[in-house]
Amino acid sequence: MDYPDSYYRQTLAETKMRPALQGRHDCDTLIIGAGLAGLTTALELARAGVKVAVIEAHRVGYGASGRNGGFVGPGYAAGDDQITRLAGGEGAKNLFRLSVEGMDYVRSTISTLGMPGVAPRQGILSVRRHDGGESLQARAEAMQRDFGYRLEYLDTPELRTILCSRRYFQALRDPNAFHIHPLNYLRGLATAIEALGGTIFEQSPATEAHLAGAEKRVTTPRGEVRSAHVVLATGGYTDGLVPRLRRAMLPIATYVMLSEPAPDRLSAVIRTAEAVGDNRRAGDYYRLVDGGTRLLWGGRIATRAADVRGISRQLRREMVTVYPELQSLRTETAWSGLMSYARHLMPQVGRMGPGVWHATAFGGHGLNTTAIAGKLVAEDILGQSDRILAFAPFGLAWAGGAVGRLAAQLTYWKLQTEDWWRERQTEDAR
Ligand SMILES: Cc1cc2nc3c(=O)[nH]c(=O)nc-3n(C[C@H](O)[C@H](O)[C@H](O)COP(=O)(O)OP(=O)(O)OC[C@H]3O[C@@H](n4cnc5c(N)ncnc54)[C@H](O)[C@@H]3O)c2cc1C
Repeated sequence: MDYPDSYYRQTLAETKMRPALQGRHDCDTLIIGAGLAGLTTALELARAGVKVAVIEAHRVGYGASGRNGGFVGPGYAAGDDQITRLAGGEGAKNLFRLSVEGMDYVRSTISTLGMPGVAPRQGILSVRRHDGGESLQARAEAMQRDFGYRLEYLDTPELRTILCSRRYFQALRDPNAFHIHPLNYLRGLATAIEALGGTIFEQSPATEAHLAGAEKRVTTPRGEVRSAHVVLATGGYTDGLVPRLRRAMLPIATYVMLSEPAPDRLSAVIRTAEAVGDNRRAGDYYRLVDGGTRLLWGGRIATRAADVRGISRQLRREMVTVYPELQSLRTETAWSGLMSYARHLMPQVGRMGPGVWHATAFGGHGLNTTAIAGKLVAEDILGQSDRILAFAPFGLAWAGGAVGRLAAQLTYWKLQTEDWWRERQTEDAR
């Protein structure tokens, strides 16, 4: 299948198609899934001279990696408390440092490879939709103290000069984080892998995997790959190829829409080129794209694929609640994508068995975490380090199947209600 219609598809820097696998192909390492996790692993292995091949069911970046908000910041989908509970205090600090390394990896890869059309822009604002006093300032101080990471605190008057919305109260600015065109980044990775001798097959779903012996054998509808190592990087699109991996994740859908060009109306209320996210769980996130002329707005999650048009109406309602001035702004395109979540909300990265690695479950925080995961999987395959063990506390536990999906949906509704309640209290206090 081709890419869904999206802003990213409409603004591809190049459109090269890659052939499907036909017949037998031999390599050292086979990677299944050409998303950010798979392609970063492939690039790092190709840089080390490994003969690497990637098979992708659809096209490079067809999954979440080519459809996301493009926010590249540090951290994980799980909160600090959860990470500390499972990995301990030192483990949590190490994981945070790795998440920053993942973010820096993306930045340096864009510039080292001179990728076209990725358009990195500095700055992400995390805004609060209820009046939490100066507690965000305390959070900035804790981040500096515990992790040596600098965030800037913005109080209400300062924030409202940048984002003209009565919904917003305080914010933290991360000047080190940035936002990008993710599909062009991914296609830049693919071009670099091929330039280093790697091979990528599109329209080549893995349908059977024989992973037990020293020589692994993976089949597609018209071919077969034999390799010493296999990396499973199939994200929210993971099917039953390796049942243990499928059982360990919950696919969660999320949504994005793109507005018509309206530079004057947009700059009247959004006076920054930084990306913006509110700090509710599954809150809104948005940024100006196309030279500041259009608004790309995302949010909402659902455990079942929902009608994109219906969801884009909900996203619009959210947008107008924040910026009533944008009531007449038309939506031109909307799309959805699937993220993969583990029960513990942390990435699942490690060795599943001799010669078999997995890198999945990056949730809604995948741009930096897929990068560090790809790097660590490659280091492990190459025998260069055991840094991958940082993710050992977060195993492939069963995600709960249909019950897990229901529990995730109920948790989301509960969190939405709590957010709504906090905002109501702020409004009542005014
Ligand atoms: C709408 C949306 C917005 C998001 N916004 C952000 C954001 O702003 N910042 C952020 O950090 N994260 C964001 N995320 C999350 C982030 O995009 C993901 O965590 C990340 O892209 C996951 O990468 P991946 O490589 O694991 O999976 P994917 O990109 O989904 O790649 C998996 C690939 O595997 C392929 N595949 C599956 N099964 C097979 C098979 N059997 N054979 C061959 N190929 C197969 C699929 O076709 C797919 O291309 C967002 C996600 C979505 C959906």
